[in-house]
Amino acid sequence: MSRALAKLARLNRERRRAEMQRDERDALRRIEEEVSETGVQFSYPHGARLRPSTVLGVLRRDEFKCRGCGGNEALTVDGSGRDFDSLCVICSTCLEQVDD
Ligand SMILES: [Zn+2]
Repeated sequence: MSRALAKLARLNRERRRAEMQRDERDALRRIEEEVSETGVQFSYPHGARLRPSTVLGVLRRDEFKCRGCGGNEALTVDGSGRDFDSLCVICSTCLEQVDD
């Protein structure tokens, strides 16, 4: 590969990474906005290292309610993996029962 092509490829990678970071920052802001609009009590799952865009998608899919009891207090996003389909919105009470 010529040096010019290698440089172009590197610039493209950097641009994609910057775009992804911007998308994730936007998603994080949307989470804050939509959580406050819906009035639910939500803690971001920091330990799980989930992408904000994934967390936002799960919240919207589950309509900002606990999948176990339908409640809207002490919510977080948790599950068996990091991808959309293995995650759900769950409240702290239901989470304790699942963890037993
Ligand atoms: Zn619940």
